[in-house]
Amino acid sequence: MVAINQATNASADARGDITLSGGKRFKRLERPSLEYTQEVAEATAPLYEKVKHHIPEIEWPVHAPYVYAINKLKKERNAAILAHNYQTPEIYHCVADIAGDSLQLAMEATRVEADVIIQCGVHFMAETSKLLNPAKTVLIPDMRAGCSLADSITGEDVRLLREANPGVPIVTYVNTSADVKAESDVCCTSSNAVQVVESFGVDKVLLIPDEYLAQNVALQTKVKILTWKGHCEVHERFTAEELLAYKEADPDIQIIAHPECPTTVTAVADFTGSTKGMIDYALGQKPGAKVLLVTECSMASNIQEQAPGVEFIKPCNLCPHMKRITLPKILDSLLEMKEEVNVDPLMAEKAKLAVERMVNLKN
Ligand code: SF4
Repeated sequence: MVAINQATNASADARGDITLSGGKRFKRLERPSLEYTQEVAEATAPLYEKVKHHIPEIEWPVHAPYVYAINKLKKERNAAILAHNYQTPEIYHCVADIAGDSLQLAMEATRVEADVIIQCGVHFMAETSKLLNPAKTVLIPDMRAGCSLADSITGEDVRLLREANPGVPIVTYVNTSADVKAESDVCCTSSNAVQVVESFGVDKVLLIPDEYLAQNVALQTKVKILTWKGHCEVHERFTAEELLAYKEADPDIQIIAHPECPTTVTAVADFTGSTKGMIDYALGQKPGAKVLLVTECSMASNIQEQAPGVEFIKPCNLCPHMKRITLPKILDSLLEMKEEVNVDPLMAEKAKLAVERMVNLKN
C-alpha cells in the first residue's frame, strides 16, 4: 500500500489551463505527434548512442518520439527530470536532467532553477524532494510507485516505538515516508548509517525500518542496534548460494552488494556500499574486470557507458515500483501536470529537520 500525503489532482478550467494546489496555474499544452520522423531520428541519434547496448535499434523508433517530445516539453514547462539510478536506460540517459540515488536527487533538487520537478523514482523520493523544496511543484508520473521498505512502517508505529523505548534515539533510513521521517530524530542513508548511529554517543539506538541495513550496521559498530522488520523486496531476494555459484564459476568476479541485502549475502561480497558507493567501486575497476552488482538490475545498464571496459554480470532483480515510471507516463505528467505530491506543512517541517540533521552531521 503506497502512503500518499495530500496527493492533489490537477483541475482544468474552460480554456483547458491547469490549476494545481495553492492556485498555481499552468497553460494547456498540445499533445505532440509521436511519429518517428526524420527530424526526431536526427535529434535523438546522439542519445541513442548512449543506450544502444540496451535498446535494440528496431525498438528505438518506439522510444525516440517520446524522448524528443519530453525534452521539448520540459523547456516549455521549465521542468527538471530527476531520475533514480534504478530507472530504465531510456529515462536515465535520454530525458533525465539529474540522475543519482535518492538523497543525491533530493539535494540536487534544491539547486535546480526549474519551477517543476518530475520525480522519476518512487513516492517517498518525491515527498523528500517536496519537503526540501516546498516552493516547487513536484510531480510523480505514477502515484502508485511505492516501496516495500517505506510501506513497512508508519508514523504511528514510530510513536509507539518511542513510547516503548524511552530515551533511545530513533534513526530513520531515508527510504521512508515524510510521516515516518517527521517522528524521527535524524535520517541516515546506507552510506552514512554507522556515522549517524555513533553520533549520539549512546550505547543503544533504534535504526529503522530496514532490518538488513540495521544488521549490516551492527557488524560495524559497538552501539547496540534495535530495528524493525522492514525489507526491500529487491535486495532481500538475493542469496549467498547464488552469489557463491557465480564466484565458483569465475573466481575473478568482484561481488558488490548493497547493505539492504541480508548479512549472509554481504558476507560473501568483496565490497558493500550504497548505490553511489557501488558505482564508485565499480568504476574504479580495471578494464577487463568482471563485476556482479547485487542490486536492482537497471543500475548496471545505466553505468555501463562510464565503464566501457568492465563486464557487468546482472542477476536481474527488478523493482516493480521503479518500473511503473515510463516515458509515456512522463509525457502525460508534463502535459497534464500530474500527479502532484504535497506534504502537510507541519509534517514537512519536522521531516525536513530530521533530514537536515543528517546533512549537517555530514559536513
Ligand atoms: S529497490 Fe527496494 S528500496 Fe528501492 S524502491 Fe524498490 S522496493 Fe523500495
